[in-house]
Amino acid sequence: MKKRPGFPARLDLGSEAPPPTTTMAVTKLLSPKKVVAPQAVAKVAPVPVPVPKANRNKQVSAPAQLGLDSAAVRDRMVRKLAEQGVEDEQVLQAMGAVERHRFVDSALVNQAYEDTSLPIGLGQTISKPNVVARMIELLRQGRNLMIDGKLGRVLEIGTGCGYQAAVLAQVAKEVYSIERLRGLHERARENLRPLRIANVHLLLGDGMLGYPKGAPYAGIIAAAGGEAIPQAWVDQLALGGRIVAPMVTQQGQQALVVIDKTPQGVQQQWLEAVHFVPLKSGVA
Ligand code: SAH
Repeated sequence: MKKRPGFPARLDLGSEAPPPTTTMAVTKLLSPKKVVAPQAVAKVAPVPVPVPKANRNKQVSAPAQLGLDSAAVRDRMVRKLAEQGVEDEQVLQAMGAVERHRFVDSALVNQAYEDTSLPIGLGQTISKPNVVARMIELLRQGRNLMIDGKLGRVLEIGTGCGYQAAVLAQVAKEVYSIERLRGLHERARENLRPLRIANVHLLLGDGMLGYPKGAPYAGIIAAAGGEAIPQAWVDQLALGGRIVAPMVTQQGQQALVVIDKTPQGVQQQWLEAVHFVPLKSGVA
């Protein structure tokens, strides 16, 4: 079945998509000439263009309860993030730009800008804004493989509803985001499509294997926590790159771990405790 490429690019790593085909699809989908409609090229500007008032009800169908001005609520969320210690202006700007309410179930829209994790279906959760901001800030504080003030290629493990991928797209040149649950991969596609963010590439596959075709990555960020950091992630990280991920500690709790790949070797630091869904292998 041949489908018109859409936004975001679909890179299906499922069993029915053998590697050679995938390679072709990737090359094709990443070629802006072939994929990006002219009006979308003009909008490659990182921030989703605010919906004009007249169109708002039409475009933002689910969250009518939020009222017309979600920007004010988002501003408040951003101020709170800054109070909580997020300092990176680019991260704060990205958090202010992405409409989190578009990514949650319509019944939860009123909680979309509270500092809380929310269910996104299939037993998974969207992380708290504070955790998303903190992890992206950490990613950007690495040895800084920056291009024009932005991270280069970033790999996200655990697309979920696509929210964090949309935030990452504001601060990175390219985002490869991989999800193992087909239902969520599809949902993220639906959520991201209207935003027409050209630099997010969604993949269906086992993120424990990383995504070698996009490597080396300036940053790898995981939204699910395992017992160890898969070697594939370290291998696919560029020299100077950074991994930020939850990982199970020796005491059986979870904490954030930061891994830097330096000329002197791989350096690991433990940070604060966190609560993420488990990292699981295989596609379901
Ligand atoms: N960043 C997401 C958070 C999703 S929760 C968001 O903004 O919504 C974490 C996700 O990781 C879940 O959807 C879960 O299915 C996924 N996950 C767990 N193990 C995985 C793996 N090995 N590969 C890819 N995704 C995985």
